[in-house]
Amino acid sequence: MPNAVIVGAGPAGISAAIYLVRAGFPVTVIYRDMGALGKTSSIENYYGFSEPISGPDLFNHGLEQARRLGVKLVHDEVVGLSWLEKMTVVTKTAQYPGDVIILATGAARVAPKIEGLKRLEGVGVSYCAVCDAFFYRGKDVAVIGHGEYALHEALELVNTSNSVTIYTMGKTAEFALPENPKLKVDQRKIISLNGADNLESVTLEDDSTVPVAGIFVAIGVAGSADFAHKVGAEVEGARIKTDENGKTTLDGLYACGDCIGGMLQVAKAVYDGAKVAAHAIKYLRTMSS
Ligand SMILES: Cc1cc2nc3c(=O)[nH]c(=O)nc-3n(C[C@H](O)[C@H](O)[C@H](O)COP(=O)(O)OP(=O)(O)OC[C@H]3O[C@@H](n4cnc5c(N)ncnc54)[C@H](O)[C@@H]3O)c2cc1C
Repeated sequence: MPNAVIVGAGPAGISAAIYLVRAGFPVTVIYRDMGALGKTSSIENYYGFSEPISGPDLFNHGLEQARRLGVKLVHDEVVGLSWLEKMTVVTKTAQYPGDVIILATGAARVAPKIEGLKRLEGVGVSYCAVCDAFFYRGKDVAVIGHGEYALHEALELVNTSNSVTIYTMGKTAEFALPENPKLKVDQRKIISLNGADNLESVTLEDDSTVPVAGIFVAIGVAGSADFAHKVGAEVEGARIKTDENGKTTLDGLYACGDCIGGMLQVAKAVYDGAKVAAHAIKYLRTMSS
């Protein structure tokens, strides 16, 4: 019986696993940690929960659902893909050949080393404007970053916030700032984030302190394209190149969820996983017939 190996146990990987295992194929999911959900204190924009659910709770529900349906779950870190007799996922401790391999490794959100940043995650520090802009309606917020991704987050925030300052941390902005009185760029470096229970202000390199209610880290969305690249699949910058079914340029290798870009949201990751699985199921059926 042909099998599937999935890297990542977030909404995308688990959604794909559920469809594949229910279609009768053996499925192994390998995961290192909770991914983006591990950093998410509260989700209230995903279907089906009358009260907000924490990221870790949603992750654990997904894991248990997959386990109950017969998915084999492996807690390990994937270090690469290689071609042995067939395409194979290589972890720190073992190798997992798969007729279908699905990469659902999420987007690595790069965090700068700034005093107070880790401590204030979820209470003023966010990594996702579309998720959290709502909580900062009418307030002064900031974005850290100097590339297109930072501008993208700022434009998301400017609709609802009182003002948005993009701190480029000493770098030159790599984007053209649109005309908007609520939007500005500041090249100074942030030295610390301040506030006891919630973010209240930032201290800049010249020792000035600026009040800010929310800060959005948008230094870059580094994807997991390295794995795909290693076995010869095409990548676009940090993203894995896929067709509309999530298939990469190699037969049997798929990618879904945050690692292929687009809207970085649970709903989209779940949809991606289901779509990729539907295509992979057809592919596996041709192998077994
Ligand atoms: C702070 C924050 C708040 C958010 N709030 C919301 C919200 O309110 N609503 C919403 O819809 N979305 C929200 N999101 C986004 C949402 O969490 C993601 O879009 C979603 O989790 C993406 O799912 P995914 O399966 O693609 O990736 P992830 O959930 O990131 O899962 C990736 C998986 O891949 C595994 N992995 C990665 N590399 C390896 C490796 N080398 N070896 C083994 N395993 C590996 C990880 O361990 C993890 O299991 C938020 C994100 C953040 C960071």
